[in-house]
Amino acid sequence: MKEFTLRVRAFTLLLLPLLGLTVEARPKPKASAPAADTPVVLRGARLIDGAGGEPLADAVVVIRDGVIVAVGPAASTPVPDTARTVDYTGKTLIPGLISNHSHVGRVNGVKVEPGNYNRANIQRQLRQYEAYGVTTVMSLGMNRPLLQQLREQQHGERATGADLFGADQGIGVPQGAPPTDGMPAGEDQLYRPDTPDKARQAVREMASHKADLVKLWLDDFEGSLAVKMKPEIYEAVIDEAHKKGLRVAAHIHDLEDAKAVVRAGVDIVAHGVRDQLVDADFLQLMKERRVWYVPTVALDEATFIYADAPAWMGEPFFQNALQPALKAQFTDEAWVSKTLASPKAESARKAVELNQNNLKTLYDVGARLGFGTDSGATPLRIPGVAEHRELLLMTGAGLTPLQALTVATRDAAALLGLEDRGVLAPGKRADLVVLDADPTSDISATQQLHAVWRRGRQVSGPITAFKP
Ligand SMILES: [Zn+2]
Repeated sequence: MKEFTLRVRAFTLLLLPLLGLTVEARPKPKASAPAADTPVVLRGARLIDGAGGEPLADAVVVIRDGVIVAVGPAASTPVPDTARTVDYTGKTLIPGLISNHSHVGRVNGVKVEPGNYNRANIQRQLRQYEAYGVTTVMSLGMNRPLLQQLREQQHGERATGADLFGADQGIGVPQGAPPTDGMPAGEDQLYRPDTPDKARQAVREMASHKADLVKLWLDDFEGSLAVKMKPEIYEAVIDEAHKKGLRVAAHIHDLEDAKAVVRAGVDIVAHGVRDQLVDADFLQLMKERRVWYVPTVALDEATFIYADAPAWMGEPFFQNALQPALKAQFTDEAWVSKTLASPKAESARKAVELNQNNLKTLYDVGARLGFGTDSGATPLRIPGVAEHRELLLMTGAGLTPLQALTVATRDAAALLGLEDRGVLAPGKRADLVVLDADPTSDISATQQLHAVWRRGRQVSGPITAFKP
């Protein structure tokens, strides 16, 4: 469409002299409006660049038109005379976090229903992600056509709320995943093709909607569903997507399914392997084919942790992320005891441990790790909170805080193919998070959010003041 508009404009310009018209130079807007290009300088903070470099003390960041133009030590980094300066002495700067696996418009309060996929609800969620320092979100399936408008809007320079990407509807299984109870989808939210031809047709439709990725659900949700996706279907999906220049992310749980879909050419394994420890065969496949792996450890933790009621649930960082209905659920004794007694909680505890083990193994062999939690898919996977839990679980698995942050910023941007963000360096978007504490030795410092900047503008303040 953009290309078409440009062509029409060029054609019109060519015609003007023939019609005896000239193009008048439009007067440039005067400086009465606040000048958009007043440079901003952030100074005094410790800077973690998101690329794994040593933290830089007393850093200077120069921002112009929403883009970082210089980063360096205060002593040797020149700043423009006209710049507005913000003093962040004692704070720490990190790049905005990037989620590779979330969902928007699924949940409102404690309800999951197709009607939640509306503008107001999604904007509320995107504002929450942003306030929690997650400045870019991939909604990995079960989107509605509204996604296209919202995505365009969120890509805008002056938008508020996290930037949004999406995998359009996604490909599920007839009578299979994703389950209709718990994850209900509207008619326009999910394809369930029963033949390879219909699968290819679904991919072509999503490509015409400019999907950023293609999502498929392969497994039977730990045996709770009658069928898995047939190989001929996911092979057709992957083949057709690649023909259209689209990459494919797969929902899996078990090692054998992960291997099968990687052998079939999938680009992103959208969850960690959680039924057993990964083996040499899988590691070799992941490395050779350079497949991305998004562990989503926090997904299983969310199944039981809020019934365990750890003390940190009382802190504003957590409480301020809760809509009233969810807050009420967490203090409902019937819900707590039912959750604690459920077999799901038991298997989720084991899944967390396996997932952590596997993510460390994959990291150590140099596989490509992405960052995501499946936040927003169900009420317990709380936007913003989930991403900070994931950082904790990653360091719990044995990554250093800087390694975990690099996965959540630089690497997560690379997974999405976004070269304009993910690290604090010249030429990158000024999407950054200001922390009151230094996460270098204790990752939980990322929860002490002081401010969030989006494209060179402060869009959010202390998390203690946020309300969903
Ligand atoms: Zn998901």
